[in-house]
Amino acid sequence: MSRQSELAFAHQEQIIAIGDRLARRAARIWRQERDLPDLNLSWMHVAPMLQELVAAAQIEAASLSQPYLDAIDESYNFVPAQASIEPQVFSNVMGDGREVAPALYGAVTNTKTFIGRGMEAGRAFEAGANFIAAVASAALHDMSRNADRVLAAGKTYTRYIRVVNGSACSRCAILAGMYSGPDAFLRHVSCQCGVVPITINVKTPAGLHDSPGVYFDSLSKAEQDRRFTNAGAEAIRQGANPVSVVNARRGAYGIGYSGHSNLPNVNRASLHPIVIGVRADGTPLQVYATTEGTTARGAFYKGEQKAQQHATSQDRYRRTTTLRLMPEQIAKMAGNDPERWRALLIRYGYLDAPR
Ligand SMILES: [Zn+2]
Repeated sequence: MSRQSELAFAHQEQIIAIGDRLARRAARIWRQERDLPDLNLSWMHVAPMLQELVAAAQIEAASLSQPYLDAIDESYNFVPAQASIEPQVFSNVMGDGREVAPALYGAVTNTKTFIGRGMEAGRAFEAGANFIAAVASAALHDMSRNADRVLAAGKTYTRYIRVVNGSACSRCAILAGMYSGPDAFLRHVSCQCGVVPITINVKTPAGLHDSPGVYFDSLSKAEQDRRFTNAGAEAIRQGANPVSVVNARRGAYGIGYSGHSNLPNVNRASLHPIVIGVRADGTPLQVYATTEGTTARGAFYKGEQKAQQHATSQDRYRRTTTLRLMPEQIAKMAGNDPERWRALLIRYGYLDAPR
């Protein structure tokens, strides 16, 4: 194990612990309301609590980026460019730019749908709890990874390795590898993979995996069997490519990689700054969002747009009224140019660094 892999796995474990605790607490808040007959009414009560809980966990996780990456710098004897992030900038938003409470509101619609299909109310409510836990956890992991990647970009790292370790992420084994620049980070729902930046001339630090085969070989036989199924693991041990084995199984698991493909196309002209807080020095903390003009590809956004026209203030916990400009969209704007990405991250409020 290299110092870098020790740091990366320790960081990932901390984030997974925060995510697991968040998921449990969020589901518990949802369950408190189960006796109320009117789900919409109870949502107005629990939504602010859930939103606050998720935001606090996101801030806690984003606060760990700085010590993590400072230690990584030191492990390489790398003197980075000056950069810091404001953890709050990585809170109160989903990885795809939606607000958190409206994303969690799916628990209400799901529960109603299940009940409508004849599911027993208790079970339907529990399905809602699972939804809440999964979405809260996704909000945490996506934004923690964003914080790490934005800060790493600020420090002028241009390459990173995916940290595949969480047991939820055997499917990500086939994505093990080295990435350059601001390339999009593929992930599935509840993906717990992390990132560790590497310097230009460094070989893959021991303990990290720069290919699916290397990742597979790093596991014990029991772990190989557990994560790839007995038959799948045996096929790989006999020489099958892990990528084709996992891809063959993918259908069975219903996995579609989400991520940058779900992001709405934010039209630069429709962006406007929104103030989300205050810095220690009293200046406003600003990010960018759009309320319109998202030429959405998916039906979701089209439906969302329509609903927004009738949005009232009471709806703020049920409908997304603003879509935040996210680091991955900024990467697209930058055209995969790391320097431009860094400059745009500064301009759009994600990164504090000298230009
Ligand atoms: Zn993953």
